[in-house]
Amino acid sequence: MLKSAIILAIGNELVEGLILDTNSKYMSQRLKLAGYYVVRTETLPDNLQIMKDRISVALQDADLIITSGGLGPTEDDITREAVSAVIGRKLIVDKKLSDELVQRAIKYYGKSAESVSKQAMIIEGATVLDNPVGTAPGQLVEVNGKIILILPGPPSELIPIFENVYDKIKADDSLYTRRIKTIGIPEAILMEEYKDIIYSDPNVTVATMASYERGVEVRFTGPISLKDSIDRICDRLIPMLGDSVYALDDSDMQDVVYKLLKDNGLTVSFAESCTGGLISSTFVDIPGVSDVYKGGVITYSNESKMKILGVAQETLEKHGAVSEECVREMVDGCKRLFNSSFAVAVSGIAGPSGESEEKPVGTVCIALATPTKIISSTHLLRGDRNSIRRRSMLFSFDILRRGVLEWLGLREISKK
Ligand code: AMP
Ligand code: MG
Repeated sequence: MLKSAIILAIGNELVEGLILDTNSKYMSQRLKLAGYYVVRTETLPDNLQIMKDRISVALQDADLIITSGGLGPTEDDITREAVSAVIGRKLIVDKKLSDELVQRAIKYYGKSAESVSKQAMIIEGATVLDNPVGTAPGQLVEVNGKIILILPGPPSELIPIFENVYDKIKADDSLYTRRIKTIGIPEAILMEEYKDIIYSDPNVTVATMASYERGVEVRFTGPISLKDSIDRICDRLIPMLGDSVYALDDSDMQDVVYKLLKDNGLTVSFAESCTGGLISSTFVDIPGVSDVYKGGVITYSNESKMKILGVAQETLEKHGAVSEECVREMVDGCKRLFNSSFAVAVSGIAGPSGESEEKPVGTVCIALATPTKIISSTHLLRGDRNSIRRRSMLFSFDILRRGVLEWLGLREISKK
């Protein structure tokens, strides 16, 4: 029997639609792997009566109840009080923790408020789960064989606490999962051409996720007893998909590119037009990227393309800014400017205006400079302005990834 779980995401900001409940999304995925059936997730306001009602019902319906939010120092944060009232156990101030919180407040803000010690209130008998990032710790309470896990709302705090307690709450019959992230093969074609392998074991659950920003992911899941079968499917499928496979884990395309460059002591720079800095900005989100990232320029106007990157006026007049001729000159200028081993340049029509007969909205030209040559291509992308810009970024990183693999002689022979 699968164990069951209910997540109660607490906070007025959630029910008012001011922020999205990403905590439930995150934990639901993890709980599935931990062998839980998530019966439901609920979003609740900071209202004591509603919280008490829903916690009581959840305790009847599931083996594990997780609350997220409502652990702050302010008046409206009352999750601890609600749980304590429902299970009839006292809240006790943990003196040591309270002193620590006061000391910390003084260190960062110069003074401490009375309410800080409220965050050191622990439910009688609960295990305190250290919060390495914020102030309020998590708490794990066992009640009649059921577990209540109380976690703070900010995802940067909830995730590490949840991960630390993950093994403890994991059910015996947990699930096994493998994922294959691909780019360049449309979902329908991938699932049709490889269906004999993908669906070779009817007991394995197959899920696909196609996203404009991440390509197509195929996921195989089943009870841990099916591990060998799932591994066999993946081991057959991965070589057939060749370098269309960019990751087998959580990594995004830019993470893969970063690692590939770093592992091989290579550097990159970006010259952007329609993406307006998105590529550089996304790349710089990766900690440690300075090892491989030399810099980038946003050359939005023709003038800046000429002045900064040395694109010839004749090229722009003859072929336009959205042309392979232009991005080739952009990428050449960029690579020189930053003295990087690789460079990528992008210029496109993100819309909604700016199209012409032969260049509709979504026309995007990308050039890659490797240490020895320049490669360019033209793509026609669907969607609104934002989708086109994000898709241009994905393609740029992918072209860079494939270019680096080829240059390193690592590019696998794809059957495609
Ligand atoms: P808390 O003080 O524990 O109620 O949580 C404070 C902050 O955490 C909120 O203002 C949100 O920014 C964030 N937060 C709370 N709940 C969630 C949730 N379910 N998903 C994502 N962020 C959340
Ligand atoms: Mg709150």
